[in-house]
Amino acid sequence: MPQINVLPDLLVNKIAAGEVIERPASVIKELVENSLDAGAKRIEVAVEQGGAKLIRIVDDGEGMDAEDLARCILPHATSKLRTEDDLFAIRTMGFRGEALASVGAVAQLRIVSRQAASDAAHEIRVAGDRIEPVTLAAGPPGTTVEVRELFFNVPARQKFLRTAQTEMGHVTEQVARIALAHTAIEFRLTHNGREVYHLRPASDMRSRIADLYGADLANTLLAFDRDERGLKITGYAGLPADARSSAKWQYIFLNGRYIRDRFVSHAVREAYRGLMEPSRYPVFFVRMEVDPAGVDVNVHPTKSEVRWRDSNVVYSQVLSSLRDRFLSADLTPAYRPGPAAFASGSGGGGTTDGEPDTEAEALRRQRIRESMADFFKRQSPGSPATSPEARPPWPTSGPRPDRPPGAGQFTMPADPGLWPPPGGYTQPASPPLSHEWADVHGVEGTLPAYRNTIQVHDAFLVAETDDGLTIIDQHALHERVLYEQFSRQIARGPLESQRLLLSETVDVTPDEVALLDTHGELFGQLGFELSAYGPSTIAVHATPSLLKPDRVSEFLRDAFGRLADRDAPASAELLLDALISMMACKAAVKAGDPLSSQEIEALMAKRDLVERSSNCPHGRPTSLNLSLADLEKQFKRT
Ligand code: ADP
Ligand code: MG
Repeated sequence: MPQINVLPDLLVNKIAAGEVIERPASVIKELVENSLDAGAKRIEVAVEQGGAKLIRIVDDGEGMDAEDLARCILPHATSKLRTEDDLFAIRTMGFRGEALASVGAVAQLRIVSRQAASDAAHEIRVAGDRIEPVTLAAGPPGTTVEVRELFFNVPARQKFLRTAQTEMGHVTEQVARIALAHTAIEFRLTHNGREVYHLRPASDMRSRIADLYGADLANTLLAFDRDERGLKITGYAGLPADARSSAKWQYIFLNGRYIRDRFVSHAVREAYRGLMEPSRYPVFFVRMEVDPAGVDVNVHPTKSEVRWRDSNVVYSQVLSSLRDRFLSADLTPAYRPGPAAFASGSGGGGTTDGEPDTEAEALRRQRIRESMADFFKRQSPGSPATSPEARPPWPTSGPRPDRPPGAGQFTMPADPGLWPPPGGYTQPASPPLSHEWADVHGVEGTLPAYRNTIQVHDAFLVAETDDGLTIIDQHALHERVLYEQFSRQIARGPLESQRLLLSETVDVTPDEVALLDTHGELFGQLGFELSAYGPSTIAVHATPSLLKPDRVSEFLRDAFGRLADRDAPASAELLLDALISMMACKAAVKAGDPLSSQEIEALMAKRDLVERSSNCPHGRPTSLNLSLADLEKQFKRT
């Protein structure tokens, strides 16, 4: 017969602590939430050695008297719930009454508290199962909670603590989440005495986002809101062009709490569909308020997931508020490949994805159709064949807004982001192919010979081929060319690197800074020299010569985001490959970059020289072919 034991209190508390207290950041979450519940207007968080040594929270909230102080550290001791009904009308952050008991079970806990009306403060100390009596103490109104030597009596847990820098990364992220949800509260965070954040009370989330992540990001965000069917939404959505490589920049708050929620995530993904590549994650911050009766927050130990009474309302309200906002927004900086209009290869005529996703997408396709029609008009039988040098004028009839009137199509691109410089392709090693060469090899089933290549909408190249025409996505093709070039070079040694006269800094997240330890060498192979510069800042001392300076920070942010991703490739080789393809993407010409005739010719020449030029490194097609036979069928000539 097995014997049933009733577990001693300390063990019960330790087990409870296992649920809520995973690492220093979770202690901070619980304690700061307590300060918020106590009505604090100012909360100071001091951390030493990533929180393993010390966590101190000082608030100016309502405080506790001696009696409550003696009670607050007991399991299931809470001032926030009285009856079962209260459980379905929770407006406080806490309600289970287990945080302080849990912390006390696994650390040395000291609480000093004073109510404003009282002129004395009181103090209590707990360490494991040792609870000391409440004593008189000195202190300002409010509560100070000190947690020392976390997990001192739980060696298994202690072993799981990572480096101070990594733990601090989690702490910083935790404080940022709470600060985003409570913008009117002043927060200060220090690590080993150095200030990480000092966030003054902000009038709205945008200014808090600016304080946390910089005005550059905050200013481009599109504000959206909606208040319908019992759900109040206020949010800020990033431009499609600013989307990241991981979902980390997606913040969802419900009734003041950071949560993860698949309904909201799906709604956002759907709202951005067709506006960006499916592998990217838009930046967004959304705050939702519902009546506490409309949601069950008591389904997860740290309350980070909820159960909606009506998830359809949540999904549809988030989706429609974002969609409405996008309709009135200028999203032009975005590169919008959208669903493929034609199947890759020759002859494909059906759309792969039915209707265009958005009006903007439909408009874009319409413009492309028009310029193609123009192109054919000029190429109609009877008109003299044009040589590659004597290029036709721009095919569009309207003025080109990005170029002054009268400026020839052969002028240098104004965009400094263009790489490589004109002529950069025409190195002796890779002369542009003559038509004869291509004719010969084209027959052998590689790529068709091309003539009269022009650029349309600064995004596509259109070339005449022997039996029709080919349309090329300039970004996708250049990306593939660079990817091949980088991979080949890196097999021989690190990419060529260029020292910066003045080191630059890039802001990432604290846990990404920690990745420098593990992946520094990887970046070395790519031609970077990096060092940690602050809790969330990386200093850049050298960069790959082939990456334009203005794309460096974007690349690094994405690269670190990718490395921090939970599903980042595990082997060094795959990681390197992922980074190479990201770098090729960043270094390549973009949709919207005007190209000179030499650049067009050079890019087309490279096309024949690289393998797999029909697809970009992400697998999207770089070009599509239309045969004359298909065109004649479309125009009902046959
Ligand atoms: P819960 O927050 O779920 O009630 P806790 O264990 O976190 O449980 O806290 C227990 C009680 O201690 C709270 O209900 C509150 O009354 C009191 N308390 C905790 N922290 C503070 C604080 N910073 N200021 C005032 N009271 C506090
Ligand atoms: Mg609590």
